[in-house]
Amino acid sequence: MSKGSHKVIDLHCDSVDSLMAGKDLRKAAAGVHVDVPRLAAGGVGLQVFAAYVPADTKENEAFSYANKKLDAIDAFARSHELLFPVESAAEARAVITEKKIGIMAAVENGLAIENSLEKLQAFRRRKVRIMTLVHFQHLPWAASSTGSGTFTPPDSHSKGLSVFGERVIDAMNDLGIIPDLSHASDAAFWDVLRRSKKPIIASHSCAYSLCASKRNLKDDQLKALGDSGGLAGVNFFSAFLSETFRLSYEKSNYSLTNDTASVQVPLTLIADHIDYMVNIAGEDCVALGSDFDGIPAAPEGVTGSDFYPVLEAELKSRGYTEKRIEKIFSGNFLRVLEEWG
Ligand SMILES: [Zn+2]
Repeated sequence: MSKGSHKVIDLHCDSVDSLMAGKDLRKAAAGVHVDVPRLAAGGVGLQVFAAYVPADTKENEAFSYANKKLDAIDAFARSHELLFPVESAAEARAVITEKKIGIMAAVENGLAIENSLEKLQAFRRRKVRIMTLVHFQHLPWAASSTGSGTFTPPDSHSKGLSVFGERVIDAMNDLGIIPDLSHASDAAFWDVLRRSKKPIIASHSCAYSLCASKRNLKDDQLKALGDSGGLAGVNFFSAFLSETFRLSYEKSNYSLTNDTASVQVPLTLIADHIDYMVNIAGEDCVALGSDFDGIPAAPEGVTGSDFYPVLEAELKSRGYTEKRIEKIFSGNFLRVLEEWG
């Protein structure tokens, strides 16, 4: 595989689960998307690791559960000469210049703060820079795109965020934790966009017009992200990229079957979503959010973090300039992170 010329920032992976399962990601590991050799081969300069808290975690255990995952991320970031824990855009730039691999911590699912702004603050002290507000289920203060039933906040007029949810967004603005709207309902997306003083992100979501998953972003959302200086990271899950795969996957009750296996999902679909998002929202709004090690199926040839040079070649074959590729691969997120201090 030829080496790519652009460094990559990947806004989302679930590889902390590999670490928690005791896998040694410092060397080539079996059955994973992300390990140090793959990150190096793919030219990754910054990998965001999400401390993901499942929706069925008991509320009084969610904070300590997220902290255990943050411990694992932190230990990994200090376990290899190529790796470096990264908190700011300046650190990310330095790591990229030194040809090292930065590791940034995120929390996925606001359940982890156990309805406490002090706990949110504790995450910031642990260098967390991104929090995905919700996951598959509604929280008492924020609605999920896939939550069952209707979101009925006890204290609010809104269908997206409760009054406490608004305070969470205010606190994130003050602390410097970027709200991540992947998984959020449409109403929560608009509520957060209105509330946040700084640009927001959807770290791992694709374009709804190309693939009608509830996890994807509609055109007006993409446009609003672009207009407000935020960004969306393209997810590599086949069921968010390919409409045919999505229909088969959902018909198979969200599992992989012979039926889903028969659907061809070429990696050019990733470039199709990037194209579409650039056209709707502008080249300053698009980034990468692989969701590696959290997705049950990826397009053919998407082997893991080592695959980015193939994506770069595909974008070049579509006439993308070096400048545009550089923005999508790393520049856009560095710009947003800088705005968050
Ligand atoms: Zn996710």
